[in-house]
Amino acid sequence: MVIRLHNSLTRSLEELQPLQPGRVTMYHCGPTVYSSPHIGNFRSFLFADVLRRFVEDQGYAVTQVMNVTDVGHLTLDDIEGGEDKMEAASRKTGLTAWDIARKYEAEFHACQQALHVRLPHHMPRATDFIQEMGVIIDDLLQKGVAYQRNGNVYFEVAKFPAYGRLSGKVLDELEAGARVAVNEEKKDPRDFALWKVDAKHQMQWDAPWRDGARGFPGWHIECSAMSTHYLGEQIDIHTGGEDNMFPHHECEIAQTEAHTGKRFVSIWLHARHLLVDGTKMSKSLGNFFTVADILQRGYTGLELRYALVRVQYRQTLNFTLKGLDEARAAIARVHGARQRLVRIREGREAAGGDDLDGAVASANAAFTAAMSEDLNVSEALAAVFEFVNVCNKAQPSVAGAKAGLSAFARFEDVLGCFGPEPVPGAVADAPAELQDLLAERTAAKQAKDWARADALRDRIAAAGWRIVDTAQGPRLEPV
Ligand SMILES: [Zn+2]
Repeated sequence: MVIRLHNSLTRSLEELQPLQPGRVTMYHCGPTVYSSPHIGNFRSFLFADVLRRFVEDQGYAVTQVMNVTDVGHLTLDDIEGGEDKMEAASRKTGLTAWDIARKYEAEFHACQQALHVRLPHHMPRATDFIQEMGVIIDDLLQKGVAYQRNGNVYFEVAKFPAYGRLSGKVLDELEAGARVAVNEEKKDPRDFALWKVDAKHQMQWDAPWRDGARGFPGWHIECSAMSTHYLGEQIDIHTGGEDNMFPHHECEIAQTEAHTGKRFVSIWLHARHLLVDGTKMSKSLGNFFTVADILQRGYTGLELRYALVRVQYRQTLNFTLKGLDEARAAIARVHGARQRLVRIREGREAAGGDDLDGAVASANAAFTAAMSEDLNVSEALAAVFEFVNVCNKAQPSVAGAKAGLSAFARFEDVLGCFGPEPVPGAVADAPAELQDLLAERTAAKQAKDWARADALRDRIAAAGWRIVDTAQGPRLEPV
């Protein structure tokens, strides 16, 4: 099926047409590793994960690269001001910039694991690509689109007329913004740094080109070097959060295309900011959550993942703790339906005659249609829950149970937020009070007090549990 995605560059839905048939290359701007990852970061990273999973589901071989920014990302990067985020964190904590980077990179990987992210094929660190950045910077200097001032190297925006096309920022606006930080070295306030010299900076390298000064790279050049290294000069899809669009992606396009002379990216995708309790997440408002904060509150990574992927990436997603409870209930509903199908497949519950063929086909078709249209996860989830209802009402045959389970396995493969297939025979322990009710019901049945036995069964059902008669006696399973 054709996959259509909203290209931020053309502001329209475009068909995914990979440069190489059957293969899709993706680059995602990854974390800047100076603090604990928060849930807003992960909205964007989980979107990238679901995108990769769905493109694979549609039969493409995907190569996915996500970088780790461990140098050069300034606290005021849009105006090239402030200080390197690693250095700022170092000053606050007493750890070195290198230690900060490694500490939070490890935390990021732990969060990926907790949130069931399928690991990208490559996750390079910027600090391991200084040589490759040097090659591009040298080339841009040779071509005369970059210039050196006191060891600093700037990209000359005037030499790249398409600058501003992605973000739609017009020249006047850019110039007005740039005036905030007047830098006498720059020919034009819009010019951005490729290489910086700062004797106090902890992370320093000899410039990997002739006549260069010791220094460190700008943030933007990192992504150009790492994406071209792993994926070549042209890539199919590049993603990031909406705040990456300007200046970061605008600069990536300018320097990469000036270097290669080719179109850098076919489709640019940008995930919207996450809102928390209806407003932008901020520490001062008390609505700032790291991934660890949510896990510490007793929610699982699966529940957090569900809450962060359930809305299409370009729509506003308002995160609330109540939304996590809803995620828990939604996952339980899917789990319950799968559990019953597993019981039927394993002969633990009587099979009916329904092969579920029609239901499976229409659920898969609706799911694919929703995902193919710019990754509409909310609609895809609606298809999943419609399928849950159909399964719960049906009397599936063994073949039907298998077919139903394979559909659920596919939905899980793409969205990753329902968990693995329930293990046959594994039953969650019911609360003690329900166990007591079950024992009372067994006694009532033995006493042939059918009315009381039925009333007890209804009370158990009202609590969300069902009684299953087995050779070892009755037991409780969640509905
Ligand atoms: Zn980037």
